[in-house]
Amino acid sequence: MSKRVLVIGSGAGGLATAILLSKKGYDVTVIEKNESFGGRGGVFKAKGFQFDMGPSWYLMPDIFEHFFSLIGENISDHFHLKRLVPSYKIWLEELSKPIVMTSDIDKDSLTFESLEPGVMKNIKIYLHEAKRKYEISKNTFIYKPFNNIFDLIDKSTIFLWSKFSVISSLNKHINLFVKSPIIQKILQYPLLFLGTSPYKAPAVYSLMNHIDFKMGVFYPMGGMTKIFESMYSIAKKNGVKFIFNTPVKKIIVDGKKAVGVIVNNKTISSDIIVSNADYHFTETYLLDRKYRQFSKNFWNSRTLAPSGFILYLGIKKKYKELEHHNLFFSSNWKKSFSQIFYNENLPKNPSYYICAPSRTDISVAPKGCENLFVLVPTATNLKLNDDMIKKYRKKIILHMTKTMNLKGLEKNIIFERIFTGDNFSKYYNAFKGTALGLSQNLMQTAIFRPKTKSSKVKNLYYVGANTNPGIGVPMCLISAQIVYKRINGITHGKPLSNFDTNFTNSNEKV
Ligand SMILES: Cc1cc2nc3c(=O)[nH]c(=O)nc-3n(C[C@H](O)[C@H](O)[C@H](O)COP(=O)(O)OP(=O)(O)OC[C@H]3O[C@@H](n4cnc5c(N)ncnc54)[C@H](O)[C@@H]3O)c2cc1C
Repeated sequence: MSKRVLVIGSGAGGLATAILLSKKGYDVTVIEKNESFGGRGGVFKAKGFQFDMGPSWYLMPDIFEHFFSLIGENISDHFHLKRLVPSYKIWLEELSKPIVMTSDIDKDSLTFESLEPGVMKNIKIYLHEAKRKYEISKNTFIYKPFNNIFDLIDKSTIFLWSKFSVISSLNKHINLFVKSPIIQKILQYPLLFLGTSPYKAPAVYSLMNHIDFKMGVFYPMGGMTKIFESMYSIAKKNGVKFIFNTPVKKIIVDGKKAVGVIVNNKTISSDIIVSNADYHFTETYLLDRKYRQFSKNFWNSRTLAPSGFILYLGIKKKYKELEHHNLFFSSNWKKSFSQIFYNENLPKNPSYYICAPSRTDISVAPKGCENLFVLVPTATNLKLNDDMIKKYRKKIILHMTKTMNLKGLEKNIIFERIFTGDNFSKYYNAFKGTALGLSQNLMQTAIFRPKTKSSKVKNLYYVGANTNPGIGVPMCLISAQIVYKRINGITHGKPLSNFDTNFTNSNEKV
């Protein structure tokens, strides 16, 4: 009989873990509290529109490519990836016209030079360093299990630390190369993808600019849901069983060994348990106190990535003013970061993001209509009543109408749904309603992030955005590989290879 694995949650990390372990011969069952798979990468349909609920930026195509090839699949057999040109459009409070970024450095340099003459010389050096950081991190750092301090001080990591100023803040680092506040904002905003602020994040994250400017921005035709649909179907093909609409209520531990879970007042036994559910939730609500690794104080002293005020809008008109990805940057930039990390109210003068996938993909909206996903980052744990939500929605729609010249936006809305921090808590058991999980500042990265293996329960593992390496769909695919390594006794820090997995020869049960 094969070893039984229970995966709690079917987010990116849960699906990826289920695929890897099922391919190795484990008998895998995924238990999901919601009605379908994908976690934050879920999807819903209404009035002919199809809305991706969370991720909308397909970045780091190399990480997806590596994962799919590892499991013996071609991405192109599952979905068609389109490179977005332009990559995104930005409206800034201090500029009368929007800026368009293309991920083509020759074109983007014209924009940068118009904002700060002569700056390209420095930006080229900055981006070259960013590329080196990305490559070194990818090949030696982010796939590490971070079992112990030695993972942090080995040769490759010391090279990274000594060669580049990785510890100083990203904001200070950018300041060395660029003086234009507008270019600084453009280089800083991708930090929001990691749920952190450029004033708190280490300079190593300038690698995000390599990802953005050099690698480009992609979109799977049919929606981001294609990523999750394909992973679900690959998992099913490999024999993974799925149980939906079933929240796990407890992990049963016997003699420091997890032996099963309780769902619907019944016990399901298992040899290994991997939790893809929120780390804080799993520790605090699924485990007895003596099996928790972290105290209440630990969790309350963490910095959480912001929550979000999200509008899913179905619009009965096309808006050519919008590109696929659109950003608005407010002029009180530094304050807007403190507002989304520490404030107890909705931000007064917010920076925000609009995704209009129907600009690229006619399948996600009825003919002649636009599908808009509007995300305003907000602080976590906000207490919002209906009136506050209604007023804020109105404020944002009015702002979009004026700033982006979206004439008649309000009257053209034929469908809308609002999603806030409360929904994140209820829907995903997210700690304090965080949209992304634990922020990725220096003290919550690598060895300092909650680990993929429990130190208290022998065969309990964690996968997803709250553990190593961190936030984002590509990172969760890597997280699953780290869990795979831990379960199968692979100790190196490099990307998992076919040599490690030997899937093609592993028809036998484990
Ligand atoms: C608004 C938004 C925008 C984003 N944009 C991007 C982007 O553009 N690009 C990108 O790469 N990433 C983006 N991200 C981040 C990315 O979506 C996440 O980092 C990633 O999807 C998290 O995956 P995960 O493996 O941690 O699991 P999650 O998606 O957190 O899924 C965890 C699953 O566990 C389930 N669960 C919880 N409790 C239980 C229980 N008791 N029993 C059973 N199941 C349970 C939940 O229902 C959920 O399905 C975005 C996220 C959000 C919210």
